[in-house]
Amino acid sequence: MKTFDSLYIDGRWVASHGKGTIDADHAATEEAITRIPEGDEADVDAAVAAARAAFEGWADTPAPARADALRRISTELAARADAIAMVIATEVGMPLKLARRVQTDGPVANWAAYAKVTESFEFEKRVGSSLVLREPIGVVGCITPWNFPLNQITLKVAPAIGAGCTVVLKPSEVAPSVAFILAEAIHAAGLPAGVFNLVTGYGPVVGEALARHADVDMISFTGSTRAGRRVGEVASQTIKRVALELGGKSASVVLDDADLTAAVKGTIGNCFLNSGQACIAQTRMLVPVTRFDEAKAIARQVAESFTVGDPLGEGAKLGPLVSATQRDRVVGLIDRAVEEGAELVTGGSDAPFVNGQQRGYFVRPTVFATTDPKSTIAQEEVFGPVLTILPYADEAEAVRIANDTPYGLGGGVWGEEEHAIRVARRIRTGQIDINGGPYNPRAPFGGYKQSGNGRESGVYGFEEFLEYKSLQLKPVAKLPPEAAAIPG
Ligand code: NAD
Repeated sequence: MKTFDSLYIDGRWVASHGKGTIDADHAATEEAITRIPEGDEADVDAAVAAARAAFEGWADTPAPARADALRRISTELAARADAIAMVIATEVGMPLKLARRVQTDGPVANWAAYAKVTESFEFEKRVGSSLVLREPIGVVGCITPWNFPLNQITLKVAPAIGAGCTVVLKPSEVAPSVAFILAEAIHAAGLPAGVFNLVTGYGPVVGEALARHADVDMISFTGSTRAGRRVGEVASQTIKRVALELGGKSASVVLDDADLTAAVKGTIGNCFLNSGQACIAQTRMLVPVTRFDEAKAIARQVAESFTVGDPLGEGAKLGPLVSATQRDRVVGLIDRAVEEGAELVTGGSDAPFVNGQQRGYFVRPTVFATTDPKSTIAQEEVFGPVLTILPYADEAEAVRIANDTPYGLGGGVWGEEEHAIRVARRIRTGQIDINGGPYNPRAPFGGYKQSGNGRESGVYGFEEFLEYKSLQLKPVAKLPPEAAAIPG
């Protein structure tokens, strides 16, 4: 068991005020392997006080110096890349090579990319007779989930620090090790005390204490829509800014002029990434009704090629889910889909054998087909390796089905490019891959509808952490007539 026995507050490792501990499991063996402090409200108070005390100095630090700090953190993280990939493979369950490329090298590079954004950002601009300033919002509480743990922390903490904010991070208790490795890297990079603080614990205790805190200026939350709604409620009492990145039920729309085999392969590759534990997973595949049977046959073959296995071994394409809770939820949704009459194309709820044993939080790669877009499996976020294929009669119906969930986070359209772009414009979602176009860390990422209200990544994610201030200067020239209107 690896034990992290301290929190990182005001530039030092300190004992938690809370006396409890929380254990996290090895996803493939079910053993408890990581122990962290169960922080409480007093720990949050101490961390927020440290962040508040550090704010003025950090906000006044010139942007190039803040950018240098981000670069040093990226270098320190790169030196710890093997350890990061290993804890993600064991705690989250993603196969090690993929955990290294997607969940380690990508975020490490993103810290350096945010150095560039920080040093090139225009923090002030003349607009008529005003000088418009962009200033850091203040103390930011960051609450993150477990599925891409370093990536989700990076998308908040790197731009917040670059923008001149100070931060209190509350990472997920389910896959917590990377947050401690990050705090070690930040300490080694010599960030001033109080700019970054780490408090671990349970969401309803530590997360809500942060959201409620009067001295926290902004909460940046990534997680379930359920918890995001609660964070929004609690935070509203102090009118702080709340950026929410929530769940999804994204659709891959396969048009009649698409290469069906490429579309099915691409959609399943997207849907099963990280064993389906991705907020942007394209878990609904919409195909022309004339090609429904053909799509099912291809999907069966592709899904069955996803070998389930030990994330640390060679050859596994699909690792386990993160925890017993998550496995039980996914298996429950598979059973419910069968009860509701969906056709099980492949997979199912029986635990697969891995190395001859039914141990670890594994779930079979599963494909359903249904003509009912209102059924539970076609509406609810599953967060497991489960795809649902739905037929559509014409394009208007495809767009209607794609838009017919409470979510709007990701999606895909497959077909001739101009045609696919026309259809993509009609889908109410924050990000759409055209013919499997790759994730671009410089493009905005976030949700429509109940998938959230913020944007992360690139300069868009940086601006989330800034306030506007207008300095009204004495005009040198005659003002335009609309200047006579005074708001309020
Ligand atoms: P979760 O909502 O259970 O937990 C997320 C974080 O919120 C954790 O740190 C948790 O401790 C904390 N939390 C829980 N209840 C809280 C409360 N009442 N107040 C404050 N904090 C609270 O989500 P999860 O299971 O860790 O992650 C999976 C979910 O995250 C999925 O729904 C997924 O779609 C979503 N997600 C969204 C994005 C995105 O960018 N939109 C990215 C990844 C994951």
